[in-house]
Amino acid sequence: MSNTTTTTADDIDKTRSTISDVDRQLLDLLATRRNLSLKVADSKIQAGRPVRDRDIERQSLVDMVRRGRDLGLDPHLVTKLFQGVIEDSVLLQQARLHARENSEDETDLRRVAYLGGEGSYSQAACRKYFTRRAGKLVEIGCNSFEEVLEKAESGEADHAVLPIENTTSGSISDVYDLLQHTGLSIVGEVTHKIEHCLLSADAGLLPGQVKTLYVHPQVHAQCSHFLARLGDVDVIYCESTSHAVEKAASAKSGAAAIASREAGALWGLFEIKSDLANQRQNHTRFIVVARKPAHVPETVPAKTTLMISVDQKPGALVDALTVFRDQGINMLKLESRPLHGNPWEELFYIDLLGNIRDQIMVEAVDTLARRARFLKVLGCYPSEDVIPTEVPAELLRENVKAASGPKSKAPEKAEDKKVAAAPKGWKLGSRAHKPDNTIIRVGNAVIGEGFTVMAGPCSVESEEQVMDCAEHVRAHGATILRGGCFKPRTNPYSFQGLGYEGLDLLKAAGDRHGLPIITEVLAPDQVTEVAKKSDILQIGARNMQNFPLLRLVGRANRPVLLKRGMMASLDELLQAAEYILSEGNRQVILCERGIRTFEPATRNTLDLSAVPLLKQMSHLPVVVDPSHAVGRRDMVIPMVRAAKAVGADGIIVEFHPKPEEALSDGPQALTFPMFEEMMAELV
Ligand code: PEP
Ligand code: MN
Repeated sequence: MSNTTTTTADDIDKTRSTISDVDRQLLDLLATRRNLSLKVADSKIQAGRPVRDRDIERQSLVDMVRRGRDLGLDPHLVTKLFQGVIEDSVLLQQARLHARENSEDETDLRRVAYLGGEGSYSQAACRKYFTRRAGKLVEIGCNSFEEVLEKAESGEADHAVLPIENTTSGSISDVYDLLQHTGLSIVGEVTHKIEHCLLSADAGLLPGQVKTLYVHPQVHAQCSHFLARLGDVDVIYCESTSHAVEKAASAKSGAAAIASREAGALWGLFEIKSDLANQRQNHTRFIVVARKPAHVPETVPAKTTLMISVDQKPGALVDALTVFRDQGINMLKLESRPLHGNPWEELFYIDLLGNIRDQIMVEAVDTLARRARFLKVLGCYPSEDVIPTEVPAELLRENVKAASGPKSKAPEKAEDKKVAAAPKGWKLGSRAHKPDNTIIRVGNAVIGEGFTVMAGPCSVESEEQVMDCAEHVRAHGATILRGGCFKPRTNPYSFQGLGYEGLDLLKAAGDRHGLPIITEVLAPDQVTEVAKKSDILQIGARNMQNFPLLRLVGRANRPVLLKRGMMASLDELLQAAEYILSEGNRQVILCERGIRTFEPATRNTLDLSAVPLLKQMSHLPVVVDPSHAVGRRDMVIPMVRAAKAVGADGIIVEFHPKPEEALSDGPQALTFPMFEEMMAELV
């Protein structure tokens, strides 16, 4: 017995050491690949070619996915891995081109100031940015943002790295305010994923036992939901996360800090809890500043940041900003801060996509300077927003046989533009009010352009079920994940849904596969909570005329999918939409899901003529729910073809890994193979 155990332990050790060898080889290969990528950058410099060639990237990704599949590797893993490698390569090449343009190739020392010491997020961002650049990095940790800037201004540092905005807590006003008076220029940007952990010197401390908490104020804001649940704790604000961990390391028991895992490890702290930020996607964007402005080569995508103030008269800001619209320049961000010394006057910071040396930018800045009271270019720098290249969905599933049946073709949408007379009782949703189609964007999905597929189970039932569905949705080219958490069931004894627990599972599945989610909000008291996590709010057929609920979703900043009531006319549907629109929410999607007739062969009768009619009357997108309309899976795909043929903007459809075991609406759920067949026909 003991012999067997020893042999097994030895075997595991051996295998582990082989794995470590393989990992080292992977690292060596990544380093080799990086060097080759730099060679490519040099040839791009000579040929004047842009850094990115999407066709080449896509082709190499597709080749990798295919090769990976032959080796038994999951296409999603391969895609994610190579998207990371490509991003690194793009940023590396951009850095090379940028350095060449600014004669920085020969720099042997880079003295860089940032906030905090060992383990601070700024240090991590600084290392991330400068590892792609030549020269030995000399780090200068500072105690305040003022000190960081001072180091660069005085010449003690060549660069300073400063956080400027965070996806959870927003802009870092202190840094914006300091930029008002600095003579430094922005020469770079870098985005860093922030993962806040609760760290303590007591290994066994539970979050509820924390008495003293050391935290940076920005971090506090980003974790406010978690901290509100923590109860009575003495909060001690620190200048940086590295100061916070340092203090927690030497404090008495019951003390904890919030910082990165790496910072905790540096000070020998234990991780008590991770993932503390209010939003999972918690990223901070840092700017890199220097005394001399930099030039960005034309072949590298660039951003430009300006600072302006305008006269205090009606329309002055609008007049100034229309310059960008007129020149076709994309404005990425507009931030306003009080102007020091002039109470109630504002200074505006504007981020633009474009190179300050482009002719349109030169003209825009010139016009703007004439309209503004003050204008300063804070800098032009390479954009580090690397949009990942996607593998086409049909290539992710090559083993699925080609679509059978005729390809349906969406009709020309010229008809859509026919402007009807203003109807009685509702106006905001009408074409008379807004002739152009409303287009709604959530994450990478678009509704109102092309044919959008929202798919998933009727109800979220378990982690495994919803993850399985999400993986399938993504793999077969649908773009939005559906799943009911609060179920409107006719019978009070039927399964009512998993509630908020289900919503967390749905969100986790959506996050994992990069899919926005949609779920039904059944009662007014759920709106705020559901809107925090669900990208689209669904109003069910039974609630189409729940007016207080409609008003509340009208005040939420989330698109709303409004289902036609089972006994409602189109006019009533549009008046219900008007409740939402008139509260300010202009992102409404209309949904035809079948109405009650005398025909018992299907669950409801799908009123397909509603689609072209609604599109004539209204600018809102119209989708079809074939599942609830027919109630039987064998009729779903034909109705999907029909919906596309009559000009619907998409469908919302139910499918399930094991329809016979579904806790709701099993008979209408497509099986996985049917879903695949349907998608193969649509994509
Ligand atoms: C649903 O989509 O989960 C649903 C309950 O649909 P409807 O409101 O159309 O019945
Ligand atoms: Mn259902």
